Amino acid sequence: MAGVALVCGVGAAIVLTDLDGYLPLDLRPPPGAFTGWRIRLAAKEPEVCYATLVRSDIPAEQSPRRLVRDGCGYDDAVALSGESRAASPPMRCGLALAYAAWERHVVAPAALRRLGSPVVSIRTLGAFACRDIAGSAGRRSQHATANAVDVAGFTLKDGRTVSVAGDWKGDDTKGLFLREVRDGACGLFSAVLSPDSNAAHRDHLHLDLGPARVCR
Ligand SMILES: [Zn+2]
Repeated sequence: MAGVALVCGVGAAIVLTDLDGYLPLDLRPPPGAFTGWRIRLAAKEPEVCYATLVRSDIPAEQSPRRLVRDGCGYDDAVALSGESRAASPPMRCGLALAYAAWERHVVAPAALRRLGSPVVSIRTLGAFACRDIAGSAGRRSQHATANAVDVAGFTLKDGRTVSVAGDWKGDDTKGLFLREVRDGACGLFSAVLSPDSNAAHRDHLHLDLGPARVCR
């Protein structure tokens, strides 16, 4: 954001070079250093989160709540609507903020630059699933509260598709694109797991807004 001078008294001025932390969170401009942190703050307050979706021109609809039982469920989920290229299954509002910002500021420009065609849709493997972390019986996954989404691939306007399963390891533009959108997710989400992480993620990117911070 451009610097803004606040005049304080005669001849004195304080120049704020980044008002990111002072204005209501708006995800229309490119993310700044604090955007991921501010998304996690907004995620704690559903009303703040819903207002941020509206302010940021992110089309979404509130989803019916699911009763929390055995550590599963949610009461503040939204689905990004079909008007959005990031149209999504129901996911917690804060996750939806990060997901929409990722599509807008990371995925869209990377597709144009690397692949020469816009992304028209993102293929997910879903968000909510009442289950434990793979290999960790008794520890609920972030999916259990719709606080995680798995991304399997992308469809481009020119008809091509990019899949994590098939294109991750390539040295071509599709592989470069996938690794760029993984790297770009790390500042917006809390945990980002890719095929570089382990075999359980060989065919998708796991993106969540849980307490753990990891990017690999
Ligand atoms: Zn996942």
